[in-house]
Amino acid sequence: PKPDPIIVASDVRRTFGGINAVDVEHLEVQRGAITALIGPNGAGKTTLFNLLTGFDRADAGQWTFEGRPAQGKPAARMAGAGMVRTFQLTKALSRMTVMDNMRLGATGQRGENLFGSLLPWLWRAQEAEVTERARELLERFKLDGKADDFAGSLSGGQRKLLEMARALMTRPTMVMLDEPMAGVNPALTQSLLGHIQALRDEGMTVLFVEHDMHMVRHISDWVVVMAEGRTVAEGPPETIMQDQAVVDAYLGAH
Ligand code: ATP
Repeated sequence: PKPDPIIVASDVRRTFGGINAVDVEHLEVQRGAITALIGPNGAGKTTLFNLLTGFDRADAGQWTFEGRPAQGKPAARMAGAGMVRTFQLTKALSRMTVMDNMRLGATGQRGENLFGSLLPWLWRAQEAEVTERARELLERFKLDGKADDFAGSLSGGQRKLLEMARALMTRPTMVMLDEPMAGVNPALTQSLLGHIQALRDEGMTVLFVEHDMHMVRHISDWVVVMAEGRTVAEGPPETIMQDQAVVDAYLGAH
């Protein structure tokens, strides 16, 4: 397919105490594809994610999302523009029900700072519509039987599914998944991969950070390798996984 980037970024830098956590000269993310961001611990993957999604601010650089300047826009604005994300640790919201987590997703907020008691106020206006969308998504992710359970009672894999379902509440065009396979038991692995491929097949753009090379190999259309804040290689998974220099230097024993 001919290039049609949804994100184009140049000279993006984020430093922590004099260390360049991210120092990316150029990055494009192809629309409608599944792109994997891989690299050793500390390579800057999560930091880059945080910058692009508006959860952290870059020290330098510019980038566009859907052709519009996006640097410096906070997360809520990015969610409004169609870019949503999930988190590596699904630690919050375990004391809310699965359904309330979904409703919160409709606000584009992650919600650690909100109390469950504020929710009715937040979603009263569009309650019926929001609830219907939530039910559809819970059904799609096979969590409909869990709607009234506390999120904390879900297995690791079910929580990842809930995070994905919640992220879709705002009907995004791009989803960014931070280690979607971490803590997922083998029984749910295939199902999770299937759900991510289905998003792509529906035209959504997916960018994910992952250490699980099985997943990277099986579902990515494109792989970007990061090390020490920079992008050091990119290509289709079959090429990247066979690049001995990449394997030795960045993928270790995987
Ligand atoms: P992992 O695979 O372990 O999640 P990563 O590739 O996502 O690693 P980052 O978490 O982005 O890497 O970290 C990149 C560098 O930035 C590391 O040296 C890290 O210690 C540093 N760093 C990240 N966030 C902060 C912060 N808030 N304060 C200080 N240093 C940070």
